[in-house]
Amino acid sequence: MIESLAARLRAGEIRARDLAEQSLARIAERAETNAFLTVTADLALAAAEEADRRLAAGEGSLLCGIPAAIKDSFVIRGVRTTAASRMLSDFVPPYSAAVWENLAGAGTVLLGKTNMDEFAMGAAGVDSAFGAVRHPLYPDRIVGGSSSGSAAAVADGQAVFAIGSDTGGSVRVPASFCGVVGLKPTFGRISRRGLIAFASSLDTVGIVTKTVRDAAIVLDACAAPDSGDMTSLARTDSLEDFLRAIDGGVRGMRVGVVNNPPNLSPDVRAAYRRSADSLAEKGAHLIDITIPSADDCYTAYYLIAASEASSNLARYDGIRYGYAADGASFAEEMSRARSAFGHEVKRRLLAGAYALSVDGRAEYYERACTLRAEITEQMAAQFALCDVILIPTVSDTACRTDEIAADAVPYRAIDSLCTAASLSGMPAISVPVPTDGLPIGMQLIAPRMGEAILFAAASALEAENE
Ligand code: GLN
Repeated sequence: MIESLAARLRAGEIRARDLAEQSLARIAERAETNAFLTVTADLALAAAEEADRRLAAGEGSLLCGIPAAIKDSFVIRGVRTTAASRMLSDFVPPYSAAVWENLAGAGTVLLGKTNMDEFAMGAAGVDSAFGAVRHPLYPDRIVGGSSSGSAAAVADGQAVFAIGSDTGGSVRVPASFCGVVGLKPTFGRISRRGLIAFASSLDTVGIVTKTVRDAAIVLDACAAPDSGDMTSLARTDSLEDFLRAIDGGVRGMRVGVVNNPPNLSPDVRAAYRRSADSLAEKGAHLIDITIPSADDCYTAYYLIAASEASSNLARYDGIRYGYAADGASFAEEMSRARSAFGHEVKRRLLAGAYALSVDGRAEYYERACTLRAEITEQMAAQFALCDVILIPTVSDTACRTDEIAADAVPYRAIDSLCTAASLSGMPAISVPVPTDGLPIGMQLIAPRMGEAILFAAASALEAENE
């Protein structure tokens, strides 16, 4: 999609300004999806005009003039950035996130900031202080979270691609429920400077696109070492490597199929089988593997994420950051300021503070860290047997919104298949596969820096949709 738009822009068949206007019109027309928290129409039109100038001069990369959106947990200079929290409802940051600087440098046009679960905590897309995101295709179903608006905007044609963040599945889950591609790159691939922190040992910048090739193109533009993020990694590959891998197919590739999958719904189980078979038909070898239990992964993930969140979110005290409240005493002011957090965030902060406390540390936080090390080792060991792991992104399709509201479907059931890749820092991609019913995403996981192989396998699965 990006390549054909780029070719038309270059040939002068369309202008970046037209693309920006079309996207802005679509966003306005589809306001009921609540995918955007802030629309930056003036910035978009100005950036589109600049892109048209560059294109006319024969300059600009593939992304020059392409309209895109970014999750509201990334700061953009001069643009309100809330992380979907009342805590930051009027925060206007003084600098821009590294990932956006890279994309803007490539000529990408910013349409606006997408809705999300507050501070990226959530798997359903219903935990925003500014209202849930509505599923663009199935309005009574959850859209998935926490990068809910990013996935909805791409699925609904409001943006060509969108940036999200994935700490424990937040790009892959909504991509899977919306029938689009969601990439969580290797931890450290894309700088997180300017991403509002949730859990720093897990937070990863992710990408939502319509196609696997688009994910490769956007990753190439975003991934660059950055001294502003001490976890950021040097590049060892290029867009040509990604596209060559995609064109190379899966012949001879060893695909790990999990022999201990957790409870999958009948539809997802059937789709899993079909996906494995289709890779085998294309020449891949299917290998039986065993991965860490989803329950262990989720438990380790939840404790570590909540602990890190309780430390990261301590800065929202209404003094330096966050909602300032009056009170008769310092304690009262602090407690009023902290009350601006939503329910889910408060729950995590309490759990995390306890897991780090003198009473809870050895039993919860430290055990979770040990478990994480074991999970990482077990994941790494599978890659002696196979090149890539295939497993569904979510064990079921999107549930109804009222089931989440009634606590009938816990978050654990939604993202427990995503957390192994998060804990081990490995790249993973969710790709939509053919189905008669609600969208289903298959997840591919590779060793660190193995994005090229992910793209190759994902592209083979994607071809089944045609
Ligand atoms: N759904 C998970 C959670 O609620 C993951 C969130 C994320 O990846 N940001 O914590």
